[in-house]
Amino acid sequence: MEVITKSADETQKVGREFANKLTPGAVVALVGDLGAGKTTFVQGVADGLGVKEKVNSPTFIIMRTYKPNFCHVDLYRLESNISEEVENLGLLDLISEGESVILIEWAEKIRDLLPKNAIWVKMEDVGNDTRKITL
Ligand code: ADP
Ligand code: MG
Repeated sequence: MEVITKSADETQKVGREFANKLTPGAVVALVGDLGAGKTTFVQGVADGLGVKEKVNSPTFIIMRTYKPNFCHVDLYRLESNISEEVENLGLLDLISEGESVILIEWAEKIRDLLPKNAIWVKMEDVGNDTRKITL
């Protein structure tokens, strides 16, 4: 399914609605360039799942967990030894526990480590505050 949004608010709304379909243990793999709107989408999903804290992208923090049972991962800065880093982060353990909804930006970097049932979401900047989201 393809959705076009024309503002960050609209992208958050798409994320909020998408959240309704997620069950505990869901892994959402986000793909798209810098500025495509991945974090904006994640903010909507978090809101839809009842996360009260604001989700953002702090520099140097790769993985952050929120209550209730929500985890945001951004692999942008990982360049080498990626599978080792991801192991150290505890991400794979968190995935196999199956309790948290996990959203991963730059997920293509760990494509082979993700479960087969991961939900892939592609985001593209198509200009003028417009984004194409392929779910
Ligand atoms: P990413 O995480 O993919 O690098 P961000 O979500 O951090 O991207 O940033 C997207 C930027 O683009 C934000 O500044 C946001 O306000 C802006 N923006 C403009 N239009 C949109 C849109 N339609 N959807 C999402 N973000 C948008
Ligand atoms: Mg981001």
